[in-house]
Amino acid sequence: MAFSSGMAAISAVFDLFGQGDHFIVDEDLYGGSVRLFEQLAQRCGMEFTTIDISTGDIAPYLRANTKAVYLETPTNPMMHVTDLKKLSAITKAHGLLLIVDNTFLSPYFQNPLDLGADIVVHSGTKFLAGHHDTIGGFAVVKDAGLAEKLRTISKSVGSALAPFDCWLVIRGIRTLAVRMDRAAQNAQAIAAYLQKSPYVTRVIYPGLPDHPGHKIMQEQARGYGAMISFEVVSAAFARSILENVELFYFAESLGGTETLITYPITQTHADVPKTLLEKNGINDRLLRLSVGIEGERDLIDEFERVFALAAMKTGAEKIQK
Ligand SMILES: *Cc1c(COP(=O)(O)O)cnc(C)c1O
Repeated sequence: MAFSSGMAAISAVFDLFGQGDHFIVDEDLYGGSVRLFEQLAQRCGMEFTTIDISTGDIAPYLRANTKAVYLETPTNPMMHVTDLKKLSAITKAHGLLLIVDNTFLSPYFQNPLDLGADIVVHSGTKFLAGHHDTIGGFAVVKDAGLAEKLRTISKSVGSALAPFDCWLVIRGIRTLAVRMDRAAQNAQAIAAYLQKSPYVTRVIYPGLPDHPGHKIMQEQARGYGAMISFEVVSAAFARSILENVELFYFAESLGGTETLITYPITQTHADVPKTLLEKNGINDRLLRLSVGIEGERDLIDEFERVFALAAMKTGAEKIQK
């Protein structure tokens, strides 16, 4: 079912539940989802337990009123990977719904329904539409009863996607495969470049063999996606990069043809509580990239240029690699 935004799709899914229901949700999520869950807790008396689901160990958090488990894999922005088949065996055994936000990989790289999920949500605004020119969202289910309930919610609250935006998303999906392949290929090259850079202290990309979720991704996905998070030597260095990029844009959102660079701590995750930010490692040196489909050489050249500029402006010293 198509909704007016990714958040409208996620809201509709939570409209399936009511007061007193309990959910286990991942601690590293899209900031808007964190905000929605806080509101649902305050206004509607729903209960949320926030944990690192990628450990697979949800049993200690189950309650009699637990209804569903909600996560992204890889997560935003720390790229934790969860083994969906293993998790779905646990949720099935306890009669819980497994809800997966599959925005980061899109259906081209990963199909959570085939891995045991009950509900998949997407922000269609991102890779599916792919051009930063519309907003849309999707909820995907196998079960006919769930589908009927979601359809009724969509009609009742009026959150369906408008015809013109449907057309834009359909047009975007026609090139989804070539865009995803190219963006992922660029991302792999940039991740390798960043790993070697003397100004980068950490690179988080599931396509790198040393990423803890690399093996699981090989089994449950067909690609590693185009999202990379990385830490630079200082907050001043990070800010200088953001001030000086030209080929790509300092902007929120993701999944379009152009590369975007984001500062999670003041942008996408500004509404996430400080304690959770610290626990998750979202600090003022962390930047997130949504890699686009530009020429690989151009992208690497742009990094070389902004890194050299940032090093000069901040007096950063090179670290040994
Ligand atoms: C953007 C995004 C959303 C929300 O989608 P909108 O279409 O912007 O409402 C949800 N989940 C993830 C992972 C996202 O990146």
